[in-house]
Amino acid sequence: MSLLIAGTIAFDSLETPHGNADRVIGGSCQYSSYAASYFTDDIRMVSIIGNDFPQEELNDLTSKGASLDGVKVVEEGKSFFWAGKYLDNMNERVTITTDLNVLADFDPVLPDHYRESEYILLGNLTPDIQISVVNQLEKKPKLVVLDTMNFWIDSAHDKLLEAIKLCDVLTINDEEARMLSGEHSLVKAAGKIFNLGLKYLIIKKGEHGCLLFDKNNVFFAPALPLAEVKDPTGAGDCFAGGLMGYIAKTGDASFENLKRALIYGSAAASFVVEEFSNHKIKSLSQSEFDERVEEFVKLSQFSL
Ligand code: AMP
Repeated sequence: MSLLIAGTIAFDSLETPHGNADRVIGGSCQYSSYAASYFTDDIRMVSIIGNDFPQEELNDLTSKGASLDGVKVVEEGKSFFWAGKYLDNMNERVTITTDLNVLADFDPVLPDHYRESEYILLGNLTPDIQISVVNQLEKKPKLVVLDTMNFWIDSAHDKLLEAIKLCDVLTINDEEARMLSGEHSLVKAAGKIFNLGLKYLIIKKGEHGCLLFDKNNVFFAPALPLAEVKDPTGAGDCFAGGLMGYIAKTGDASFENLKRALIYGSAAASFVVEEFSNHKIKSLSQSEFDERVEEFVKLSQFSL
């Protein structure tokens, strides 16, 4: 089933305890689309790039089944640029630079055939754009998921609350949940955020897994213990892309199926962190992906 993914397509400069990478390919829409491509070949990307983005990277995305009809190319502009540095524990990072560039004036116009998309992932992006995408949909989607980060909680707080009210699911990390709610306890934070009108809330805790909440239930999914994490960039985006790809494939947005989707999303995230940029997540075979999912099943299966 169709999956629309809005977000950034970017250049990133990264510093990690394992080394640096200068102006490598990044962006939430790009990462989520690769992760979702292991589940569906009807991916509709909504994003913007400048004249500096390599054509071969765009070709790689289309070869995975992603439509670029909603990706605007600004001939006179530069692509979004983000620079970040990871602390020694690799779970925390600081943003050094966010250059919005072409994103600053992006006012997306959805191609006609995107307007009846069934599943919507509003990846990490300006809340105004996330709202505009939802407002252009002509048929009520089956599920709308929104991802965000500290930058937008800080710089566009009220617009972000407006965007969240249009969604069914919010994915957010633990620090961002505390920031958004003003509560230190994650359970209290979840309660406050949930009351914004969500159906489900997912709180990501990096290498410590993630929590899924609905009105009455909580479910915990682990992260895979990995021998080496080289670059955590894109983990949240691949998590969201894998999760939504699985939901779009199965056409089931129940709590029970979201539990499974959490594992598929976590599997996608576990690959992207093993290499810098998109090198690993874009080049896996289906059997490699499926074997990783089996590892997750073994990791958390037990009997009483
Ligand atoms: P993640 O590690 O999953 O949170 O996503 C990292 C990716 O998000 C990087 O590739 C960045 O290019 C992109 N990114 C960083 N800051 C922002 C922002 N403020 N809005 C949208 N995308 C961003």
